[in-house]
Amino acid sequence: MHDHPDHDNEMDDMTARVRALETILVEKGLVDPAAVDAIIDTYEHKVGPRNGAMVVARAWAEPEFAQALREDATAAIESMGFVGRQGEHMVAVFNTAEEHNLVVCTLCSCYPWPVLGLPPAWYKAPAYRSRAVREPRVVLSEFGISLPQGMSIRVWDSTAEVRYLVIPDRPAGTDGMSQNDLADLVTRDSMIGCGVARPPATSGTAA
Ligand code: FE
Repeated sequence: MHDHPDHDNEMDDMTARVRALETILVEKGLVDPAAVDAIIDTYEHKVGPRNGAMVVARAWAEPEFAQALREDATAAIESMGFVGRQGEHMVAVFNTAEEHNLVVCTLCSCYPWPVLGLPPAWYKAPAYRSRAVREPRVVLSEFGISLPQGMSIRVWDSTAEVRYLVIPDRPAGTDGMSQNDLADLVTRDSMIGCGVARPPATSGTAA
């Protein structure tokens, strides 16, 4: 089953329909506006790619946590307090020197909300959903990522059952950095596989 709310509909129409529905539901006493506000606040402020970045940073810093992620990503991520809808069955895929991982949902827009927040518009676009599978290397180059010739690309198709989190390679020159500082290097796109982690800022150039 693919049942989740956002698809490629025209947003203006969708916004109007949502507003109309909310008004009716509130008027009939079927939903509490405060509860709706709480849900919106959650996805605007509490759930987002910073959560995933903290997971990646911890995996870089703590080998035993990385191992726990490989064995049961759902439990390992839950142990950091990141739980919720569309995060019930997580799999962490680790980039290596030989293989790069890329995540797509070919059917719609399945995405790991608790660790990445809501998906960007391009993730839901038909062009990304089809081309990520057919020509992943070209798609990556359009994101500014050119992989070495010998590196293979593994494409993971998200579903309502399984959501993937890419663990990007740890950048060089980051030894001894705190997990907070490491997390600053982990972009949202790097956790989808459409990017790589940022290199650390070079020291000695005082602003
Ligand atoms: Fe989907």
